[in-house]
Amino acid sequence: MNSNEIEIHKELKKYFGFSQFKGLQEQVITSILDEKNTFVIMPTGGGKSLCYQLPALIQEGTAIVVSPLIALMKNQVDAIRSLSSENGIAHVLNSSLTKTEIAQVKKDITSGLTKLLYVAPESLTKEEYVAFLQSVPISFVAIDEAHCISEWGHDFRPEYRNLRNIIKQLGKVPIIGLTATATPKVQEDILKNLDMADANTFKASFNRPNLYYEVRTKTKSIESDIIRFIKQHKGKSGIIYCLSRKKVESIAEVLQVNGISAVPYHAGLDAKTRAKHQDMFLMEDVDVVVATIAFGMGIDKPDVRFVIHHDIPKSLESYYQETGRAGRDGGEGHCLAYYSYKDVEKLEKFMSGKPVAEQEIGFALLQEVVAYAETSMSRRKFLLHYFGEEFDSETGEGADMDDNVRNPKHKVEAKEQVVK
Ligand code: ADP
Ligand code: MG
Repeated sequence: MNSNEIEIHKELKKYFGFSQFKGLQEQVITSILDEKNTFVIMPTGGGKSLCYQLPALIQEGTAIVVSPLIALMKNQVDAIRSLSSENGIAHVLNSSLTKTEIAQVKKDITSGLTKLLYVAPESLTKEEYVAFLQSVPISFVAIDEAHCISEWGHDFRPEYRNLRNIIKQLGKVPIIGLTATATPKVQEDILKNLDMADANTFKASFNRPNLYYEVRTKTKSIESDIIRFIKQHKGKSGIIYCLSRKKVESIAEVLQVNGISAVPYHAGLDAKTRAKHQDMFLMEDVDVVVATIAFGMGIDKPDVRFVIHHDIPKSLESYYQETGRAGRDGGEGHCLAYYSYKDVEKLEKFMSGKPVAEQEIGFALLQEVVAYAETSMSRRKFLLHYFGEEFDSETGEGADMDDNVRNPKHKVEAKEQVVK
């Protein structure tokens, strides 16, 4: 180790209490400290936040962190503040602040106290803020959830598209883009839109060897099938995703009637009920949460043993994110999806009200889900290929962890049936 490496290990320990970097963190941090544009692609839970937090804490000036969700920004600011005796070390700048609070934020930045300033992309469009940020030293701009830039991502946000222009007004500052969802197409889009083809790119593997992938044909007996599955995993925690709130309610009820402890979760429930149901799941007062995709952001329950998709998701990115909530602790995680072409048509119908360009992208993403559901090849290989990653389905880690590999479809038999 050279002195620089010793230095950042020391800082890691000092601020975060960790003795080791996770995955590619050290390389990423070195790139940022070298003031290079940097692009980080790591799965959820990979430790992306630390990649910009640590260099921000070490360097002179304030790092701007762009993040799409106010709740997530607040969490991060609280976490950073808990590492320091100075509240001013991290701030959020947004429209909910009072004049006095804004004055305090500006004062802390000007005095050099603030190392991390979290902003929502729409706040950055405010001229007043931009003018202020031009007048203070900025160490770098980190763009978290950078896939929001791309229409090909699963969470496109138009405000993200203006970021590059605003950052240009701040002078020459390095840009760090971070995302957990980068198909090669989204990746290209991000680099192009941020005008950083020169960026040092760091991509971690997306393989989750402890997850078992399975797709079953959706039939009328899906409910009894799910009940049987859960009873085979008695006492284990699991999530069931459904497309509609109505379905969430009815499945939760069917499970309860059948003696399974389950609660519903969707955006139609009031905040108090949602929080209560989430806590019940986290505290293991119930085994199963039946939910729409509203459930899961920032949920960090390590021992979720299964994730069931009652309906297929709208993209493989969503599928990967949602199934990724299983087996965080490295233990078994069973990912079971039910598939019927009727559901595909339903999703297509939902999209038909949207602008044509959006529809086309939506259909294309959905076709990938269909191909995944219908494939007879290794599902892991298929998924990883979608994320631009090579996987050897014979020797790769977790190679036999899917239904297609364990029970190959017998092509010969199928042919014989056709002949008959
Ligand atoms: P991401 O943004 O990539 O989804 P986070 O930044 O939220 O991931 O980090 C996920 C978890 O990993 C957090 O609980 C964080 O404290 C932990 N973590 C990050 N870096 C390290 C490390 N070097 N050693 C141990 N735990 C780490
Ligand atoms: Mg993150």
